[in-house]
Amino acid sequence: MHCIYCKSNGPFNKEHVIPQSLGSFSPINPTIQSTDGLVCKNCNSVTFSALETEFKEDSWEGVTGQMLNVTGSNSVRILGNNVTMKCFSGIKDSFFDEIFPFLKLQNQKFVIDVKPQVRIRNYGGEDGYQVFSVEALERIKNESTLSKTKLEEFNRVKDRLKMSGKNNVAIFTGGNDPNDNTQLNQAITLIREYGITYNENQRKFTEAPRDPNVRFEVGMEGKITPNACRLIAKVAFNYFSFGSLQDKMQGVLYQQRFDQIKKFVLGKNNIIREEVIVEVSDDPITIHDKLSGNRFPGHTIVFFEEGGKIFSRLTFFGGKVYKVLLGECPDELLNSNFGCGHLFNPFDHSIHNLTQQPKINPSEEEVKQSFGLYRRIDLSGLNS
Ligand SMILES: [Zn+2]
Repeated sequence: MHCIYCKSNGPFNKEHVIPQSLGSFSPINPTIQSTDGLVCKNCNSVTFSALETEFKEDSWEGVTGQMLNVTGSNSVRILGNNVTMKCFSGIKDSFFDEIFPFLKLQNQKFVIDVKPQVRIRNYGGEDGYQVFSVEALERIKNESTLSKTKLEEFNRVKDRLKMSGKNNVAIFTGGNDPNDNTQLNQAITLIREYGITYNENQRKFTEAPRDPNVRFEVGMEGKITPNACRLIAKVAFNYFSFGSLQDKMQGVLYQQRFDQIKKFVLGKNNIIREEVIVEVSDDPITIHDKLSGNRFPGHTIVFFEEGGKIFSRLTFFGGKVYKVLLGECPDELLNSNFGCGHLFNPFDHSIHNLTQQPKINPSEEEVKQSFGLYRRIDLSGLNS
């Protein structure tokens, strides 16, 4: 057994095909198991772990996942080096720019969910910050008496808040009128229980837009960094590897033809991005997305053969579509049935395959069998 990425002979770890920060799925969460012996501990826990944290905190996709809180996390961590976001209130007041724009899914669209929150500056650098919803802080405090683990969690958050220093804390709450401080006072009392004496420097009240046509909007700006590209290429190769494993064809993964993408994922040499991520576009992957004009709000991943090469196309949260070159297609894989594709829904955790007749409530075994190298990819369903 050798690691498909670095060729080491172990020890091995389990590796999620899709980073956990982008959601979890059921009835199976596609994972390369440690007993499969395909991804070593060093690649998984050192190299990829750092890459995934950076992606979560500093890429459009990762930050979107945090805005939607697909993992049910207690706090949001934003590095702010490559991605910045603003909450536009539509009322020409920059006040709302400071609020972290949580999102929720409504009628297949993301809309702003203004949540009372505590924001701490100076996370991982000058531009970074961490946000706790008041609701999460309340829950952590209330649950701290339930068990030792819950108490430890409370103490961890307490230490984190204390560390930031009281001058780096900002509270955002709502109210019915300028004199309604109920929510604010509750939040101040709450953070006092976390050991923070809130000495107010400044207080501001701004009226939210009352016109139902004026909506909050999020403005996000950012660049696609080389490390984000490495992570995206890794998900594409993981997905292909997981399919190979289901068909007991994982031997092909060690062929030299896949060396370039592996080196790119490991960040070991100077492969230029365009050689691996050959295209970044807004073109929908599936015909359904194209015809409906709406993007699937979750993740779409496919791989297919084109001109003797294997490509993957993937997108997260209906964002940019990345076309990734995995490598030359081995002769032994060339088959008219070659290719596979899935939709991953991080909101209801469901998986839908794009390659077989959709089935309502498939069994765990049926979902597992939908992954593979030859799953009769329905090219009519792809927007090619
Ligand atoms: Zn390795």
